[in-house]
Amino acid sequence: MLGQMMHRPLSIIEILKFASDNHRNAEIVSVRTEGDIHRYSYSDAYKRVAQLAHALDRLGVKQGDRVATLAWNGYRHFELYYAISGMGAVCHTINPRLSAEQMTYITHHADDRVIFADTTFVPILNALSAQLPQGMKIVVMTDRDHMPASDLDLLCYEDLIADCPDTYDWPELDENTACGLCYTSGTTGNPKGALYSHRSTVLHALSLCISLGRFVQEGTRILPVVPLFHVNAWGLPYGAPLAGASLVFPGGALDGPSVFKLMDDEGVNSAWGVPTVWLGLQGEINKNGRIPRGFSSVVIGGSAAPRAMIQRFEEAGVSVCHAWGMTEMSPVGTHGILPKAQQDTLSLTERLDLQQFQGRRVFGVDLKITDDAGTPLPHDGVAAGELFVRGNAVVSGYFNNPDASAASMDAEGWFGTGDIASIRPDGFLMIQDRAKDLIKSGGEWISSIDLENVVMSHPDVANCAVIAVPHPKWDERPLLIIVPAGEKRVTKDEIDTLLLKHLARWQLPDAIEFVTELPLTATGKVSKLTLRQTFANYQLPDMG
Ligand code: AMP
Repeated sequence: MLGQMMHRPLSIIEILKFASDNHRNAEIVSVRTEGDIHRYSYSDAYKRVAQLAHALDRLGVKQGDRVATLAWNGYRHFELYYAISGMGAVCHTINPRLSAEQMTYITHHADDRVIFADTTFVPILNALSAQLPQGMKIVVMTDRDHMPASDLDLLCYEDLIADCPDTYDWPELDENTACGLCYTSGTTGNPKGALYSHRSTVLHALSLCISLGRFVQEGTRILPVVPLFHVNAWGLPYGAPLAGASLVFPGGALDGPSVFKLMDDEGVNSAWGVPTVWLGLQGEINKNGRIPRGFSSVVIGGSAAPRAMIQRFEEAGVSVCHAWGMTEMSPVGTHGILPKAQQDTLSLTERLDLQQFQGRRVFGVDLKITDDAGTPLPHDGVAAGELFVRGNAVVSGYFNNPDASAASMDAEGWFGTGDIASIRPDGFLMIQDRAKDLIKSGGEWISSIDLENVVMSHPDVANCAVIAVPHPKWDERPLLIIVPAGEKRVTKDEIDTLLLKHLARWQLPDAIEFVTELPLTATGKVSKLTLRQTFANYQLPDMG
């Protein structure tokens, strides 16, 4: 027997309408490419989103069309998220740090009709113009006074929307209608597209507000350093308006001093981003001898948060949530906010013992780990295997890519994450490594994350990465690459002594190399692929 309830399709534009009606005191603050700060309310945004939807109609955008963005975090990008999906088209966020070749590939693969770009990225479009899809219109996200010079036929965002009505008759869409497209930059092969729906996005936003509810609340001021061009800025453009939190968009200046100043000026309470960004902020906190005004929580995800980084924040009075997820999961899969009882009673060391892991699943996500034969392994905190996920906001395949889709799903329809993990009986996920980053030594596995975690606690280490180097006898052995914190170079003996407190001797790195910085991927994570290429012919000491 079916329930006798109305069916109202889940719809993204309803989130903004809700915020516009109910959260009148919240605001969106943006550092603009024009150089100033812009601020307005969700109600103002809702009106401009309607104007923008009319402008998209005028540009000839139809339901199902892909509309690309190439932009920093700012209010116009936020408006595009809602206007494009609200009218039934698909918002395709492009990561500006991708190579020209990848960008050309994805604009063609997505068949983008229009691209909206920040002034900063017009030079990229100038350089790529011959390779872009034919007839693709280019809109620059600024006003007439700030339009850049270019040989391209550029349209101006503010001109386009200026005389459009500020209400729009939003179509009632099937809740499974596609709303967003985000390509994940695989380490091999072409990028693959995750195609989100209204239903998956709304459910993800609701679950974000529940699971991370202590950080996403009415009245809090949230800084998404995580970009709108990468997995929907972890769902914040939807979760914050739902909850009534304010959004502070940082534009393109993501270095420690700029982030510190913006947080201080705007009284940011909660800041979200990858570990690399927080290294910069922690440097600035040290320099200033204080945390930014109002700063009380940080969400660290995208790659493993080093224990030492979590400790520094917690000691400064900033609550840390270590989160795990993927582009293919919209993205949040687990969160490390501790159960209240533990948060209130455990000592700092006991808390860190838990917080260094990736936390518990959010509602709507199921986790399983399997052995090589696909047999599920127990959640006993010991057994480790490939992590599979399923849920309302997890992809069922990749956009227009049957081969990659088939390769990523198991026979029961779970998505293979490519991460190796254990799950504790209390539900805490422990990511050991990306499968390809694990180091296989003499038939045993060494986790690069475990090694890095310990090395990062050394005061003379600013950042580090461990990679596998081919070895004739052991197959692979770990090489430790360190960015020193100052002049002093830590010795191998010092590192070994430190590591031996936590790990077995055979797991210790065979050698240390020093570099001034680590290469980053387009999403701001340490690029182990680049490091493995750089050190492909590295001679470890006992290789003769
Ligand atoms: P992306 O789709 O680019 O967001 O990358 C997703 C991948 O990043 C995951 O499959 C993990 O390998 C890695 N990742 C994300 N968050 C974490 C975390 N907290 N700890 C360890 N790895 C992470």
